[in-house]
Parts: sequence; C-alpha cells; structure tokens
Amino acid sequence: MTIRPLTIRARLTLWYTGVVVAILLLVSVSTYLLLRWHLFNDLDASLFTVAGVLRDAPPKDPSAPLPSDLEPLVKEFLGTEFADALLQLLDPEGRVRSRVLRPGLPLSREARANALRGAPTLETVDLTTGDQARLLTMPVVRGGRVADLVQVAMPLRRTRQTLTRYVETLAVLVPLGAVLSAVGGWLLARRALRPVDRMSQGALRISAEDLSRRLERRGTQDEIDRLADTLNAMLARLQAAFGEMQRFTADVAHELRTPLTALRGGIEIALRAERSPEEYRRVLVSSIEEVDQLIRLAEDLLLLSRSTIGLTAARQPVDLEPLCLEALEIGVRLAQSKGVAVSMGATAPAVVKGDAGALRRALLNLVDNAVKYTPAGGSVVISLCRTRESAALVVEDTGIGIDPADDGRIFERFVRLDAGRSRDTGGSGLGLAIARSIVLAHGGALEVDSRPSGGSRFTIRLPAL
Ligand code: ADP
Repeated sequence: MTIRPLTIRARLTLWYTGVVVAILLLVSVSTYLLLRWHLFNDLDASLFTVAGVLRDAPPKDPSAPLPSDLEPLVKEFLGTEFADALLQLLDPEGRVRSRVLRPGLPLSREARANALRGAPTLETVDLTTGDQARLLTMPVVRGGRVADLVQVAMPLRRTRQTLTRYVETLAVLVPLGAVLSAVGGWLLARRALRPVDRMSQGALRISAEDLSRRLERRGTQDEIDRLADTLNAMLARLQAAFGEMQRFTADVAHELRTPLTALRGGIEIALRAERSPEEYRRVLVSSIEEVDQLIRLAEDLLLLSRSTIGLTAARQPVDLEPLCLEALEIGVRLAQSKGVAVSMGATAPAVVKGDAGALRRALLNLVDNAVKYTPAGGSVVISLCRTRESAALVVEDTGIGIDPADDGRIFERFVRLDAGRSRDTGGSGLGLAIARSIVLAHGGALEVDSRPSGGSRFTIRLPAL
C-alpha cells in the first residue's frame, strides 16, 4: 500500500493545530499551578491571621465558647460553618484546653518541637472526619515562655473542589480549543493556498502552442504576485526561445530548399532527353557542388548547435599565438587566388582557458570572411594583443565594410548582407553566428568595428589566464 504524501493544506492544518494545542496545554498547566499556589497561599495567610487574633486575645476561660468579638472575625476568614470547628487551644504539653472543638486536631511531634522553640508550623493533616486540612500550630509566648499553643485548621475540601472544577473546565475547553483551532487552521490554510490553486489552474491553460498567455497577478505585491512574476518572466523567456526555434527551423528549411531545388532541377533537365556522357558528367559535377554546399550547411548547423548548447570538450589552457599562425597559413592559402595579402600584425604571448578546436573555428570564420569580403588588392591583418585581464584576437581587413545599421544583424543566423550576397561567396550566413556562440561560451565577446567601403575589424576578446 502506498501512503499518499500529505497536502500542504493538511500539513499546515496539523502544524497549526499542534502549536495551538501545545500553547493551550502550557497555559492550562501553568494557570492550574498558579491558581493552586494562590489558593494555598491565601489559606495559609488566613490561618496566620486567625491564629494571630487568638494568640493576642486568648479566651480567659478556655472552656468557655469563643468571645463574641472574635466570632465575626473568625467567620470572615474561615466561613461560618468552620468558625468554631477547627480551632484548638493546647497547653505546652499538648493537652487540649479549649472545649470549642468537635473533632480533635492532631499535634505532630515536629509542630510541638517547633512551637516550643517559638516557631509556627504549617502542615497538611488528615482529620478524624476523613477530610484533609491545612493546619497551623502557633506558640503563644507570654513572659518569655511558651504559655499556650494555638491551632487553627481549614479543611481543604473547598480548595480541592475549586481546583477539581478548574481541571474539569480545562478538560472540556482544551479539546474544544483543539477542535476549533483545527477547523480555523484548515480554513486559514485553504484561504492562504487559494491563490496558488488559482495559479495552477491558470498555468494548466498555458500550452506550448500558446505561450503568449500569462499568469494573472492579483496586484497585492505579495509572495504569490512575486511567484507569478517569476513564472511569467520564465514564460516570456520560453516564448522567446520557442519563437527563435521556430524561426530557426523555418530558416533551415529555407536554406535546405534552395540547393535541393537546384539539384532536382539539374537532374530533371538531364533526364528529359537522351544526353551524351559528357553532358551527364557535367550535371553530376554540378550536382556534387550542390551536395557539397548541403554538407557544409549541415556541418555548420551541427557546429552551431554544439556551441550553443555549450562546449563539450574539457577546457584546457590554449596558447593563442600558434592558433594565429595557423589561421594566417590558411588565410594566405585562401587569399592566394584572389590577390589579397594576408599578414600577421603585432602579437603577444597570450593563453586562455578553453576548447582549442572551437577557438580555431571561430578565428578561421573571421579570417575566411575577411578574405571573402575584401576585393583584390586589399589586405587582411591578423594580430594578437594582450591586456592584464584579457586577450584579443583581431582580424582587420580593407574590404567592403559593413553599414553601421547592420552591425548587430550580421551575428544572427542566416544573415547575409546584400553586398555580401551579390558576390558569389557561397556563405551560409552561419559563420559569424558560430563564431559568436563559441566566444560567448568562453565567457568572451565578439566585437565589430566597420565602415562601408572602409574595411572591418573583428575582435575576439577572451578572459586571459
Ligand atoms: P557568410 O557565410 O555569409 O559569410 P557570416 O555569418 O560569416 O555569413 O557573415 C554574415 C554577413 O556579414 C556576411 O554575409 C557579410 O555580409 C557580413 N560580413 C561578415 N564579415 C564581413 C567582413 N569582414 N567585411 C564585410 N562584411 C562582412
């Protein structure tokens, strides 16, 4: 049998009830103890007062009833029914002198010993009636010696009754309080969690197809509103990413369609009539060019997705100087047939942490572009600078340049500017996008500084080791 985990509402209710019950119990026990202490204290104080009165004005004739002037006082403290019942006068030997008493009050050895030393004793004793009583034994000192012992006792029945009634009341009130707090806690939890319920219902209505919907805010600026804001911000990011993905898919489809259509067209025309072997050969050669372009596109896409997801290769220190020399070598080869001079500018030793292969690809893309977009007679310079915190790979050309309005766009995928496209360069428009995502994955930045017909300067800035 699987035990279902408790809902937040149930847990909140349980916690709330538990805390309230604990507080109720604590308050009950402490008020009970306090009440008990006060009752016994008051009782003892009354006993002392009555005993004091008897000690200061003991009856002349012990066998006579209590003097009439004492009676109201005694009644006031002990209540009418006990007024003459629990008073006793003894001689120092412990012999009873007064006749006013119905049940006898016991005189313990300790109380007598204390009294002979002049000290009063308070004790709880059993009466012959079966009741318990609080008993005060107080010495009456006359002429420097203990002349009499005054004993005043108060049955504990009433005090005990009061305490019992209090406990009975608590026994009803505490469970009632617990039940009420459970109900209150449940209602509170339900109320507190209602916005969350509403929010999850709202979230259910948002699907991948309709990411433009947002969670409702209540305008209270509280935790729930903040949660809605956080989720809405996440939805906005998802929507942007989704839109980007859709655009990307459409772009890829578009990019694939052009060479595929050309390929199909060429083959179709070749198949329309009987052709000579040379003609077939020409068609096949041009088909291979289209296929090569498709392969290049597929490779670029793969590279882009890898660098966007994050570089998988372990990061290692990469010396940038050999990387520049390698790029120079390839650049020179690329530019040979074009009449563009590729050379090395200033270099400084610089080491960064990263993926050497990916960094090489980023730099080569820049060199490739510089050669591609520089007309014959122009030049391309590769240089490497180093500051305290960063290393910069710079590729500068004297080519066609870029309109400042397009500076930002050129890094987007499949973006080729008109000037570039009009030339037969065969670029897929992914080169700069790949370079930028590689540089970003290394915690760096790719910057461009260019003017139309004034050449361009691309800089890869990386945190140096
Ligand atoms: P492509 O494959 O077309 O070169 P890129 O992403 O590498 O794609 O570059 C995007 C566009 O940016 C190019 O089509 C070109 O118009 C422009 N561009 C890139 N580098 C240069 C440069 N060095 N000089 C002038 N234009 C450039």
